[in-house]
Amino acid sequence: MGAPEREIDLEGLIASYCEGVDQELAGRLKAWPPDFSDIHIHEVIGSMLARQATLAKEIAGAPSMWNGHSSPILLRAMADVYINIAWLLLDPAARCLKFISFGLGQAKLELEHRRAEIGDRTPTSAEAATIEASEHWIETQRACFLQDVDLGKWASLSVRQMAGEAGCIDFYNFVYTPFSACAHSMWHHVGRYNLIKCTNPLHRYHRRPISSAAEPDLHYLLLASKYWAKTLNTFDAYAELSIDCQSTYDALIAAVSVEDKQDIEDHDSASEWRK
Ligand SMILES: [Zn+2]
Repeated sequence: MGAPEREIDLEGLIASYCEGVDQELAGRLKAWPPDFSDIHIHEVIGSMLARQATLAKEIAGAPSMWNGHSSPILLRAMADVYINIAWLLLDPAARCLKFISFGLGQAKLELEHRRAEIGDRTPTSAEAATIEASEHWIETQRACFLQDVDLGKWASLSVRQMAGEAGCIDFYNFVYTPFSACAHSMWHHVGRYNLIKCTNPLHRYHRRPISSAAEPDLHYLLLASKYWAKTLNTFDAYAELSIDCQSTYDALIAAVSVEDKQDIEDHDSASEWRK
């Protein structure tokens, strides 16, 4: 997908898209009030939904990042959120608790690294404030000394296994994994995006490093929008909600005249390097 054939009011499109995402999130939160006997479920799932909305809007608001260098980093983060939510919702009471526990363990570990680095010297006021804020954040949730530090994966499963259990192995194979190459700057990303064939035949067509700008491609906005819609669908199925309004994804598809949603291939960042 390149530039659309007819003029699009991009600024207006982005503004109404972001407003729509906020409304979609607010609609779910209104229809899904907190259950105080299992409040951790509401906090974990609610925060993950809000995170996904944030990522969708961050991508939407930055057209200069709608390219294969940058967007996949955020899209990979959206893939993480999606797989986590899909897996958490299969057994939310136990899994959300584990999710919190692992995160608190990581925060505790980070705190211990800071303390060790300071050692016997007097901490600066900024360091002391950071440590105090971190301790407070952990302690308000669980007594600090009771907190286990779990060095493994929070789910005791690989992301691939989680995706398998949650019935989204295709999403793992075609979204999470390809976008990981960009997020981690692996060879199959940099070899395609940051090397160009030298045209000097005497050089035997080696490849030269290149850091080139890329034209914004709406395709990346559509992918972010698609993953947000997918997340809402999974949540709605769990919470048995049927929200009666046009989704921001459908509105976007209509606004940019995509005739067939199937055309929006998940891992089609290839459109840039295969030219
Ligand atoms: Zn050369």
